[in-house]
Amino acid sequence: MNEALLQFLWQHNLYNTVGLVTTGGEPLVVVNSGRPNRDAGPDFAEARIKVGNTVLVGNVEMHMRSSDWFRHGHEKDPAYKNLILHAVYENDIDDVAAGMPTVELKGHISAEVISRYSGLVGSREKLPCAGRLASVKELTKESWLSRLLAERWEQKLGDWNVLLQNSAEDWSNLLYWRLAANFGFKTNAVPLLLLAQSLPLNIPTRHKDNLMQLEALFFGQAGMLDSDFEDDYPRQLQREYDYLRKKYSLKPINAALWKFLRMRPANFPTVRIAQFAALVHKSLHLFSQIIEVHSVDKIVPLLDVRASEYWDRHFRFDESQDKASAKVLGKSSIENIVINTVAPIQFLYASRQGTDKLQEQSLQLLEDVPAEENSIIRIWAENNWAPENAAQSQAMIQLYNNYCSGRKCLDCAIGLSILKNA
Ligand code: SF4
Repeated sequence: MNEALLQFLWQHNLYNTVGLVTTGGEPLVVVNSGRPNRDAGPDFAEARIKVGNTVLVGNVEMHMRSSDWFRHGHEKDPAYKNLILHAVYENDIDDVAAGMPTVELKGHISAEVISRYSGLVGSREKLPCAGRLASVKELTKESWLSRLLAERWEQKLGDWNVLLQNSAEDWSNLLYWRLAANFGFKTNAVPLLLLAQSLPLNIPTRHKDNLMQLEALFFGQAGMLDSDFEDDYPRQLQREYDYLRKKYSLKPINAALWKFLRMRPANFPTVRIAQFAALVHKSLHLFSQIIEVHSVDKIVPLLDVRASEYWDRHFRFDESQDKASAKVLGKSSIENIVINTVAPIQFLYASRQGTDKLQEQSLQLLEDVPAEENSIIRIWAENNWAPENAAQSQAMIQLYNNYCSGRKCLDCAIGLSILKNA
């Protein structure tokens, strides 16, 4: 038992409410436990209780022991004057404040609730509620996943709003930056974003018809052309970049930022940069196309790109491979971009325009993409809760990272359900 659990049980009425009496011996009925207060001051506001025949409305403070009142210095704090109730787990000191009723809850809380709580927050398993997950109603899980997806997008789109402001509300620019970061996937997302930010969109747009010039711009700005190459192709890029760098007064990013270690060669940043250059080369008015298209089948062709021919036999400059393979953006990479860039930017655009229908379409888009496959999703699937689509897998990633890992089971609808049914 701890104060966080005590507050949780109070908030959700998960204690035996029958036969409550104050320490002064008067019958107590909790009509409304109040609104939790996460800021400074008493723990619950606007509670409504009945002590004897008197109805009281106001603030409630909770403690493990009544003596905590003094330990926390509440007797000197005006914010704690006029409380309607002091609800404690154990009343170890009587009458800590004159005129304030106190109730001891110890005898009203079931041992099973405490045991289930300890089983969740004290567990060393990857998923503490695994054994009880099957007992949670499907409806509870589904509505919790919807809230988690909204929470995930709220966090993500908050950062994007800042990027949008930094680019003078230029949506094409936001898409350019976010697509670049997405092409870096997890490992090289930051350097690819920095690369795009170091090269204003109007410059690659001016050279979009010439793929070699685009590669020169992107590889040059990536700091990857500063070597003595043997192959003709990178030398050609070097010459082109020298000219363009001077023309546009460009400054490359630090080449040491790129990560190649422990990656499959097909995911090397060299390959991703070449594919990104191919995307810029291929697309005309990409932002308006992406905003207007709401079916996966129509979005896939927009993102279906192949790096230039040099990359058929290379993963890095000057390192030729015997076997040729076209460096196309694979299906799962395209789906990853739909999940992480296309659907969120459509949602953000729709919410800025105030169009509910477009917002729904962007969510539907996520439901039409297969669920992601990664280590977090495998944990859920191993526990018989496999996501049906990308909307659910995104929500489950949010749940695992933001709740399960930090053992925030008291803030989780599944945790609430498990404790409620104890
Ligand atoms: S946060 Fe929720 S889903 Fe995660 S372990 Fe706790 S109860 Fe289970």
